[in-house]
Amino acid sequence: MVEHLVIAIDGPAASGKSSVARALARRLGFVYVNTGAMYRAITWLAVSKGVPTADANRVHQLLHFTDIVCGVAEGQSTILLDGLDPEPHLVSDEVNANVSAIATIPEVRRILVAKQRAYARDHDIVMEGRDIGSAVFPETPYKFYVDASPEVRARRRAAQGLTDSVATRDKVDSTRRTSPLIIAEDAHVIDSSNLTVDGVAGEIVGRLKLKGLKLVEEGKGGGMKYEV
Ligand code: C5P
Repeated sequence: MVEHLVIAIDGPAASGKSSVARALARRLGFVYVNTGAMYRAITWLAVSKGVPTADANRVHQLLHFTDIVCGVAEGQSTILLDGLDPEPHLVSDEVNANVSAIATIPEVRRILVAKQRAYARDHDIVMEGRDIGSAVFPETPYKFYVDASPEVRARRRAAQGLTDSVATRDKVDSTRRTSPLIIAEDAHVIDSSNLTVDGVAGEIVGRLKLKGLKLVEEGKGGGMKYEV
């Protein structure tokens, strides 16, 4: 059961969904939850401990002995592993190359999905990932799938200074057995190829209003609040 409002934003790598989710959360005053960062954090942990990411049993064992604490700071999700902040390592080449393998392990997903669901107990959230609308919060009426053309996605990735193979990750993410990247049946699909971040966030706000969410402008800064 969803206790707080959950806006689910899924999509492939470099589709623009992170920037959109962050901007939307700021505008609505919701907590922004980046689930990709959670899978990346676990990947960094395995890699830094020398645990082969293809060895599901060893990865599972490693998680069993690791204290994983998810929280919120300055309106965004955070994760600490045995008290360490993995943030500086999350987009390293090694993590980029191994994260999709880690994300195929059902036990990893089970542990992280429980932590993702816990966010909605205390906060209204904008959560982005691959399976948020289809598996983490299938009951939320607010589901979006943000996509962009392969050329635009490659350009956006390069502009971030990253050269990892987005296509390889997308293939693994879309074909894995547990919670693959799919467009949830009731998701609203947005092609962000020719839209700005604010443009996509604006389309989502429009859609939320159409769905009956009473969002009202607050001041001139673009902030909004919702009325129950
Ligand atoms: O969103 P980001 O590109 O940082 O995600 C990194 C990887 O984490 C994805 O390629 C995917 O393998 C995995 N992931 C996932 N499910 C999510 C979010 C991310 O499997 N909800």
